[in-house]
Amino acid sequence: MPRLQRKSNGKVPSVLASFYAQWRVRCGVVPVLREDSDSPPERLLQTIWQHQRLLRDQLNTLDGQPIRILHPGFRSVEGGPDFRDAIVQVGDGPLEAGDVEVDLRSSGWHAHGHDRNPAFQNVILHVVWESERPAPGTPLTLNVRQALDAPLGELSLWLGGEAAQTLPEELRGECCAPLRAVPPPQLLNLLHQAAHVRLQSKASQFQARARRVGWEQALWEGLFRALGYKHNVWPMQRLAELRPRWHTPPTQLLAVQARLFGISALLPADLTRAQTGADHYVRRVWDQWWRERDQFSDCILPRALWRLHGSRPANHPQRRVALASRWSLDGDLASKLQRWCAREVPDSALAPSLLEALQVEPDDFWSWHCTFRSPRLKKAQPLLGGTRVTDLAVNVVLPWLWIRAVEGKNAAMQRTLERRYFSWPPAEDNSVLRLARQRLLGTTSPKALPGAAAQQGLIQMVRDFCDHSNSICDRCKLPDLVRDWTAFKPTGSSK
Ligand code: SF4
Repeated sequence: MPRLQRKSNGKVPSVLASFYAQWRVRCGVVPVLREDSDSPPERLLQTIWQHQRLLRDQLNTLDGQPIRILHPGFRSVEGGPDFRDAIVQVGDGPLEAGDVEVDLRSSGWHAHGHDRNPAFQNVILHVVWESERPAPGTPLTLNVRQALDAPLGELSLWLGGEAAQTLPEELRGECCAPLRAVPPPQLLNLLHQAAHVRLQSKASQFQARARRVGWEQALWEGLFRALGYKHNVWPMQRLAELRPRWHTPPTQLLAVQARLFGISALLPADLTRAQTGADHYVRRVWDQWWRERDQFSDCILPRALWRLHGSRPANHPQRRVALASRWSLDGDLASKLQRWCAREVPDSALAPSLLEALQVEPDDFWSWHCTFRSPRLKKAQPLLGGTRVTDLAVNVVLPWLWIRAVEGKNAAMQRTLERRYFSWPPAEDNSVLRLARQRLLGTTSPKALPGAAAQQGLIQMVRDFCDHSNSICDRCKLPDLVRDWTAFKPTGSSK
């Protein structure tokens, strides 16, 4: 674990508390901005938009209309508008799908020639930092300057390192040789310092959200987001934001499932006619949903918001929503996590003990099906699998508990959580880790990353350095930083 200076004033510890954190600032990976006078770099503004670090329930366009962002769009790396396929709703109007262009100034629309470029004809929203009176022909404009969910300086430190482009299809990078020369204990120390930056970043997001909606709602939003995996984060986020509407404990499981499936628009419109068990369940959910549908008609998500193909059947959004419904029925999840945090847990039992705390009762339908239409499984499967629990731990549970410990000035709890974070077993391998291991560490072996924190540290380095360079590592400072560090620091030094 890295040696870090800690403040006990209830705030996230200083961002310059570790040498890795200092590297980020020194190299300009993250800009240090003054709240009053600086404009964010356009890339940071795009990242703020991508991560929706906004007061999402208070957004108004320049002409004074309330606007809801149902999906910020997918970041485009192929030229043209910055984000593709966003979905927004202006006032009580219909949902609109289209592109989003992010510029520092509203005048950029004409100055950059977007008005004459056919590639921009599908832009439905111009997101800006400074706005003048919109010129004729400018799309609907949203000024986000007054709508950030945290101070600009804070956002720049935590989001500045996030990806601005997809990872290039390249294997070994310029940093590979110097990193391979680092002795394993020192390399692990470097990865852990980067992992600590990542923990702080996720924790600060919970802290900012909790200021607006409270700790428990912030936790629910984090959990739902994590259940969205890569492609359905935003509909799951929206479903969680609507929780105050649909959550009225105590209630029946079928009622919760009907509301969640109904509001999410994941309920099939017709029966299979071939699987009586599935048809029976769908009918029961529909019977329940019909009774309540009208009172939720204003918040039903468009089905097109979901990406339903390309994920493993066990990760299908319908099954994830079923898990969320079980958690919601429990209603005591936050207390369970706090009790798990207060318990003595040996390192070898970290993942199983959290799985036990988060696991739900077997479900008559969903323990046996991946989707409404999939055939019945031969063997019942738990709604939460062992592999998923590590993602929930490093992305949601540990950051949420950790920042609560920081705010509560509970140094012992903070240390316990950090120990758990750095002792957590590795998560399931994925394509980001596979490529990063080859590019940065020159190995295909998952054993190069012995725990979840090492994986998180490597991902943070990819976000901070690879994503700001290119496939030929143009101007990446990491190779020199590593060379200088190993030249001047004795083996095993943590600073
Ligand atoms: S961009 Fe930088 S961190 Fe990424 S592989 Fe190249 S040298 Fe390494």
